[in-house]
Amino acid sequence: MSAVTTIDSASGSAPRDLASIPDRVAQLRAGFDAGRTRPLAWRIEQLERLRAMLVENADAVTRALHADLRKPETEAWATDVSLVLSEIALAKKSLRKWTKPEAIRTPMKLQPAKSWIVREPLGLVLIIAPWNYPVQLALAPLVAAIAAGNAAVVKPSEVTPHVSSLLATLIPNYLDRECIACVEGGVEETSALLAERWDHVFYTGNGRVGRIVMQAAAKHLTPVTLELGGKSPCIVDADCDLDVAARRIVWGKFINCGQTCIAPDYVLVHESRHDELLEKLVANLRAFYGEEPQRSADLGRIVNEAHVDRLAKLLESGKAVIGGTVDRADRWIAPTILRDVAPDSPVMQEEIFGPILPVLAIRDVDEAIAFVNRGEKPLALYVFTERPAIEEAVIARTSSGGVCVNAVLWHIGNENLPFGGVGESGMGAYHGRHGFEVLSHHRAVLKKSVKVDPSIAYPPFTKLKKALIKRFA
Ligand code: NAD
Repeated sequence: MSAVTTIDSASGSAPRDLASIPDRVAQLRAGFDAGRTRPLAWRIEQLERLRAMLVENADAVTRALHADLRKPETEAWATDVSLVLSEIALAKKSLRKWTKPEAIRTPMKLQPAKSWIVREPLGLVLIIAPWNYPVQLALAPLVAAIAAGNAAVVKPSEVTPHVSSLLATLIPNYLDRECIACVEGGVEETSALLAERWDHVFYTGNGRVGRIVMQAAAKHLTPVTLELGGKSPCIVDADCDLDVAARRIVWGKFINCGQTCIAPDYVLVHESRHDELLEKLVANLRAFYGEEPQRSADLGRIVNEAHVDRLAKLLESGKAVIGGTVDRADRWIAPTILRDVAPDSPVMQEEIFGPILPVLAIRDVDEAIAFVNRGEKPLALYVFTERPAIEEAVIARTSSGGVCVNAVLWHIGNENLPFGGVGESGMGAYHGRHGFEVLSHHRAVLKKSVKVDPSIAYPPFTKLKKALIKRFA
């Protein structure tokens, strides 16, 4: 397979062909209506082809990720591609079990009868992906859509044009063109897609566009999954292994240059360990990326200059204990740790989504919990503590899409856990069986024997019947 395909327009997006979208969507729907996607054999074959697509084009994929985000090769594979391969492996292994009709207990009053649930495909699914993990976030939902027996359109982000273009080339070469398509484009194309009727829209990105998606879907009563973001807090208790905490926080914050939806957005550390934590964070940053991180082969870049400009303004919200420099031409913001950050400063108002880590001191866990609860419900929440009572208090008295104790990000790596947000950080969840479930209709079936048909259920309702119905129905 060729390397990264060429980009056509100055904006980097594929040539626009808005007029063809309704016909393309109609073709895919016809493919679904013809029943092509329902057999398990089709699903397994498509999953195998998707796997082959990634494995056979591994070089092209890593080159595209490098061109768009300067992603280091190891990181590209470990964080963008391997999760999709794990999802494929799990779906293939589990499909028979997941699709088996699920026997359900039937209450006495309805006996003799049997009940069960059938998982059936929803139909045609639209997947809209963002730019930060542009392979994973376009293809992991596609695994779920295929596993559940749906037809699907993938719309990659125009902000990462090399990956978008590559997916648009590879998907039709590997997957069933009658049921799966990749449509490139930006706002105009996505709006044209959203004007069509879908059976589910799976959107990953920011909450502003999430609202646009939900509004468009409402027109056809189409269900949506919204995988959004927010400020994911990281609470560091006085009683914790600070060496491990600092190492893990630095790793999880600066991977992909902080452009990770579940990156620890800011740290709330017990005041007694504040200075010590800062020292250890700085030491780990140096150990990971050296004295000149801009030359490190293990750090990518900010996706574009607009985001560099946005992030540069946030640097003014505190005192940089390390980093704080900007090289716009290189799309570079140095990995930065900020101290003396006021809770109402700009860096604490919006999701940072970049390599800037504010560290704020707190008096106790109650203050940390109150701080978190003043904001919107985050996508992830992290707590480092050795004390079970603190762990329990944080989990019980806050809410978030997911939580890690003494770790960051790792919950996304367990494909058996649901991955999704709550409130402002999104609705619905996927990964593994959860993705299969969210893109399936859970159809209730009840089958009654015709051998027994007592007249008590039918009019006229005599006094005796009424009494019996009140007693048993
Ligand atoms: P983005 O700019 O790539 O936008 C996401 C998608 O929305 C793109 O495909 C884009 O074409 C489309 N889009 C943009 N404007 C639109 C409009 N007006 N109408 C219709 N479609 C439109 O990505 P982004 O939103 O900048 O992504 C970053 C955000 O995504 C962050 O908030 C991050 O936390 C969140 N995110 C969440 C997850 C998750 O799994 N929950 C994962 C990654 C990113």
